Amino acid sequence: STISRHFSLSSPAMAPISKETDFLVIGGGSGGLGAARAASARYGTKAMIIEGKRLGGTCVNVGCVPKKVTFNAAAIAETIHQSRAYGFNVQETGPFDWSTFKRKRDAYIQRLNGIYERNLANDKVEYVHGWAKLLSPNQAEVTLDDGTKTVVSAKKILLAVGGYPTIPPQIPGAELGTNSDGFFDIETLPKKVALVGAGYIAVEFAGMFNALGVETHLFIRYDTFLRNFDPMIQEAVTKEYERLGVKLHKRSSASKVEKDEKTGKLTIHYKEGDSEGVLSDVDHLIWAIGRTPATQGLGLEAAGVKVDERGHIVVDDYQNTNVENIYALGDVTGRVELTPVAIAAGRKLAARLFGPEQFRTAKLSYEGIPSVVFAHPEVGAIGLTEPQAVEKYGRENLKIYKTNFTAMYYAMMDPEQKGPTAYKLICAGPEEKVVGLHILGLGSGEMLQGFGVAFKMGATKADFDNCVAIHPTSAEELVTLR
Ligand code: FAD
Ligand code: NDP
Repeated sequence: STISRHFSLSSPAMAPISKETDFLVIGGGSGGLGAARAASARYGTKAMIIEGKRLGGTCVNVGCVPKKVTFNAAAIAETIHQSRAYGFNVQETGPFDWSTFKRKRDAYIQRLNGIYERNLANDKVEYVHGWAKLLSPNQAEVTLDDGTKTVVSAKKILLAVGGYPTIPPQIPGAELGTNSDGFFDIETLPKKVALVGAGYIAVEFAGMFNALGVETHLFIRYDTFLRNFDPMIQEAVTKEYERLGVKLHKRSSASKVEKDEKTGKLTIHYKEGDSEGVLSDVDHLIWAIGRTPATQGLGLEAAGVKVDERGHIVVDDYQNTNVENIYALGDVTGRVELTPVAIAAGRKLAARLFGPEQFRTAKLSYEGIPSVVFAHPEVGAIGLTEPQAVEKYGRENLKIYKTNFTAMYYAMMDPEQKGPTAYKLICAGPEEKVVGLHILGLGSGEMLQGFGVAFKMGATKADFDNCVAIHPTSAEELVTLR
C-alpha cells in the first residue's frame, strides 16, 4: 500500500541508531523539524529527531495542508456556481468526485513526507522512526518499528510532540463519531454530516462541506462561533453560515449517538435551547472541540517536567521547561496552536542554544501573531479584539474604524449570491497606533500577511492612510477608512 511504501522509503529503523546526540528532538512535526534542521544545518549541531507517525506532523498529514487543499476544492465549487453570473454557461457536472480528489490529496501528502525526509538528510539530522520516552533529564528510550528499544543520551532534549483531537464528552455513543484526523480518511462524498465545536476546525470543515453540497449541521454551545475572535467576525460569519445554508444548532449539546448497523448511518439526539431534537441519516459526526497535548507515555514524571492543569508542558518565554536542558514548544505548550508559531519558536530556540553569541537571548514574541480561519468567507485577525483593547486601553483612548461593503466580485451577481466583507481597525492613543485589525471577506487570507508586517512595525492610522490605495481591490478599503 502507499502507506507501507512510505514507511519502507523511510525505514531508518533498519540503520543502527546513535546512542548519543547533542540535541534530541522528540516529535517530527512543525516545531521539531524547525528546531532540528536549524540546529544541524545552520549551527552544525549533532541532532537527532524521533517521529512515531509520519514526518511533518499534524500540519502536513492531518492539518493545514490537506485542509487547505480541500478548502481550494470547495472554493472551486463556489466559483463554478458563481460563474453563471458572469455569463458562463457552465453545466453543473454532478456531485464532486471526492474519491478521486482524496486519492490525489493523499498522493500529494506522501510526496511531502518524502521531501521532508530528504530535507532532514540534506541537513544531516539523524531521523529515527519510532516512539520516544524520557527516562531521565538527559536520556530517552526509543522504541523502533521492529519493537527494539535503544537508550539515547542527549545533552539537550526538545519536546515537540504536539497534540491530538480532544476526546468527546462522555455521552452514550460519542465514540461513533470521528474527529479531524478521521475527516481526512473519508473516502466518498457524504450526504449529511454533523460537526460539534465552535473553533477553527468546526467552522472550516462546516464551510467546506456546505460548499461541496453536503447537508451540514453544526452544533455550537452558544449563539455564535469563533468566540475568541472580535465580535464583528463572530456575528458576521455566524450569520453568513446560516445564510449559506449551514444548519446551525445554537445553544445545543448532543446527548446520545446511535448507529444503524445496516446502513452505517448515525442518529444524533440533542438538546437545543429548551427543546430536544433528533438528527438521523448522518454519514459522519465530527467532534472538533479542541486539542489535547500528547504527553501521555512521554516519561515527563521520570524527568521531572511540569505540566499545567490542562496537561500542557509549562515553559517560560524562552521555551525552557522547569528542568535544565529540556525544552518544549508548539502545540504541546498550548500557547498559540499554529504551525508557523511552532516553526518560529523552534528556529529561535536552535539559534539561542547553538547559534552565535548575538542569539543568546533569542525568543519568539507571542504578541501580534496573525491568523486566518479558512471559513466562508475567510477571516483574519492580528492584535487585540475590541473587548481586549477596551480592557487594556480604556474605551476613551481608542478610535475604531469600521466598514462593511459588497466586494466588486459580487457586482454581477444576484443579491442572494453576495457574500459579506467587513473590516475593523482598532487604534489606540493620540498617535492612533493600530492595536487590532480584523477582516472578513474574499481574499482575507492572502491580505493579512502584508498588513501583519505593518502591524508588527507599529503602524499608525496615518501610516495606513499614507499608503496609496490599490484600485480596485477590497484591501484598499483598509487604507481609506474614515
Ligand atoms: P505536531 O505537528 O502535532 O507534531 C508533533 C509530532 O510528534 C507528531 O507527528 C507526533 O506523531 C509526534 N510524536 C508525539 N509523541 C511522540 C513520541 N513520544 N515519540 C515520537 N514522536 C512523537 N495551523 C496553521 O497555522 N494553519 C492552518 O491552516 C492549520 N490548520 C489546521 C487544521 C487542522 C485540522 C488541525 C488539526 C490543525 C491545524 N493547524 C493549523 C495547527 C497546526 O497543525 C499545529 O499548530 C502544528 O502542527 C503544531 O506543530 P507541533 O510541532 O507543535 O506538533
Ligand atoms: P479551538 O480551540 O479553536 O475550538 C474549540 C471550540 O470548541 C472551543 O473554543 C469551544 O467553543 C468549543 N467546545 C469546547 N468544548 C466543547 C464541547 N464539549 N462541546 C461543544 N463545543 C465545545 O479548537 P479546534 O479543535 O477547532 O482547533 C484546534 C487548534 O488548531 C485551533 O485552536 C488552532 O490554533 C489550530 N487550527 C488552526 C487553523 C488555522 O490556522 N486556520 C485551522 C484549524 C486548527 P465555545 O466555547 O464557543 O463552545
